[in-house]
Amino acid sequence: MIPISEAISIVARETQLLEAERVALGECVGRILAEDIVADLDLPPFDRSQMDGFAVRAAEATEGTRLRIIGESVAGKGFDGDLGTGEAVRIMTGARVPAGADAVQKIEETRESTGTVEIRKAVTAGQNIVGRAREIRIGDTLFRAGARINERMIASLASFGYSDVAVSAAPRASILATGSEIVDIDRVPGPDQIRNSNSAMLSAFAAADGIRHRVEPIVGDDLGNLTAAISEMLSSQPEIIVLTGGVSVGDYDFTKTAFRDAGVEIFFDKIALKPGKPTVFGRSGRTLVFGLPGNPVSVAVTYFLFVRFAALLMQNAADPEMRRGNAVAMHEIRSTPKRDCYLPVSLATDDSGRLIIDSLRFTGSSDFIAFSAADALLYVQKGTTIAPGEVAEVCFLER
Ligand code: AMP
Ligand code: MG
Repeated sequence: MIPISEAISIVARETQLLEAERVALGECVGRILAEDIVADLDLPPFDRSQMDGFAVRAAEATEGTRLRIIGESVAGKGFDGDLGTGEAVRIMTGARVPAGADAVQKIEETRESTGTVEIRKAVTAGQNIVGRAREIRIGDTLFRAGARINERMIASLASFGYSDVAVSAAPRASILATGSEIVDIDRVPGPDQIRNSNSAMLSAFAAADGIRHRVEPIVGDDLGNLTAAISEMLSSQPEIIVLTGGVSVGDYDFTKTAFRDAGVEIFFDKIALKPGKPTVFGRSGRTLVFGLPGNPVSVAVTYFLFVRFAALLMQNAADPEMRRGNAVAMHEIRSTPKRDCYLPVSLATDDSGRLIIDSLRFTGSSDFIAFSAADALLYVQKGTTIAPGEVAEVCFLER
């Protein structure tokens, strides 16, 4: 049995970087940037009005002052002249503030009559203006290579002309469920059967993580068939193969033997982790091979700790591990004597604004129903107990 940290180091050691490619902006969410994103212009590109109103000189625009309106500045067509003493320019939100003006008074604080405007409330220099380059300066870096692109970054990429972006190539994965009791989800299971929830879940995880993947047909507990299916998957040289099931020590658990028979070099097969102890990891050529325990929550935990980690690492992601944080335990939570635990929990905030752990009614690693309400995995070090009120470490499941 090896510690989790050692398992992670071994996975890292066996993982190679993928090449970069360019993808269209509309297809880049979830991918890892392979270039720094740089502003190709100042933003705002000019001193920009935040209000509909009048551009003025703050020093003379005191209450009751009447100014001559000499033109207008609208979004898309600014006023090109200079604003002189006693003058104002009508201006719209988003338009360029004319030279000579240093403030904008909003229309509600003015009164207009035949070619002049009365300032009804004094303004201060800079009021209602976002100065040129206040948001970002030309040449500044917005995002660094290694960042995962999310939906909130798209407006920035679009604004600086990135109609396509350099990202790491997407890892390719094959997903396979093994178990003689497993049936496809569109079937009604017989008395000794269960539906294949693992492949569907892994497929959704992979999609969210930008992994191109294929779900293979279910294989029963048969060494020959399993070895053949693994060899077949290896022949198409995906970066990742994920099997679920058949990694325990039962008479019909053939995954590890089938990996070996298919030529996979195994690096570990037992981790001091709960759930997920019998996780198998190996490699054949450039293909990383994971054998995850069959129980759905074990699959989820080991996917996040190891498979997603490898997939992100091969894309040169800056943060390949799960995002960690702290939350306050509400109940006592025990670990096991010899294994570190990652327990699904849901999170909430209390009246004083603390992030708190709402323990789930989690019955064990087969309990995918409890897992569906989880926001995070609570880390409980082996041999320890977290007391109510204690601050504990959590890994967030949402990305
Ligand atoms: P195993 O790792 O093969 O011993 O399986 C452990 C448990 O997970 C058993 O109760 C299996 O029925 C269940 N299981 C295995 N594979 C799947 C799957 N693809 N979908 C849902 N449950 C599974
Ligand atoms: Mg089984």
